[in-house]
Amino acid sequence: MPRTLDPQLKRALTERVRYYRELGIYDFYQRPIAEATANSVQELWPELRDEMTPRSKAAVAVDEDELFVVPKPEAGAGDPAAALRMIREDLGDCTRCPLHKQGRKQIVFGVGNPRAELMFIGEAPGADEDQQGEPFVGRAGQLLNNMIKAMGIRREDVYIANIIKCRPPGNRTPERDECETCSPFLMRQIAAIGPKAIVALGAVAAKTLLAINAPMSEFRGHWYDFRGTKLAVTYHPAFLLRDPRQKKETWKDLQMVMKELGLAVPAKGVE
Ligand code: SF4
Repeated sequence: MPRTLDPQLKRALTERVRYYRELGIYDFYQRPIAEATANSVQELWPELRDEMTPRSKAAVAVDEDELFVVPKPEAGAGDPAAALRMIREDLGDCTRCPLHKQGRKQIVFGVGNPRAELMFIGEAPGADEDQQGEPFVGRAGQLLNNMIKAMGIRREDVYIANIIKCRPPGNRTPERDECETCSPFLMRQIAAIGPKAIVALGAVAAKTLLAINAPMSEFRGHWYDFRGTKLAVTYHPAFLLRDPRQKKETWKDLQMVMKELGLAVPAKGVE
């Protein structure tokens, strides 16, 4: 139902929503607000106050749907594969964060079955991934393949992606703002695929997806609810290459995932 906003606020709000759309963000969480007044919108984005003063006394009717309910480009896709293609097109030759000019060779979007029941999400592409345009293809990728094989499934059965899609220089840990800028596209990939379970590989993936700052020891061993999908956390394969003793612990995490997916648990673990 149309509500009343002053024109200046409506303009500022429209600009703000357009800005988020350009970043790939389409989902807005609206708190229930009895009356959508200028003040209540400012509670959502306090910085709009500066853009609004002096306030116009004239008020215009505004339909909230007009501002907030914008279908994502992939909304009309017939199937997950088409939706993923549309998200990739929307991402384009992305320059949304500084990583685009810090030596990346290409964007590493994600790979695998668009209808996968299981998704693995790592941190960022490394040198091999940057070179080949596919996540987890280097030594850590070989180990991830072994982990997947140990679960009795194939790499082609799952979908693999990273929190960010461009290689950070020197393989440094991605900055928080890089994760925040890039991850809306990953969220859309997850929504398009609709997996039964997600495995976050390493602390950066876990912290970004769950918005919780905790050590790996706390993240592991239980399920989280990620927007209605079950999410488990285990060690990043690159960490396991440095500390192979943790493979045993990783196998425990993967067994938990296998049980959830109804997969038979073989005696042999990750090698
Ligand atoms: S990391 Fe993501 S947001 Fe940054 S430039 Fe690459 S694709 Fe764009």
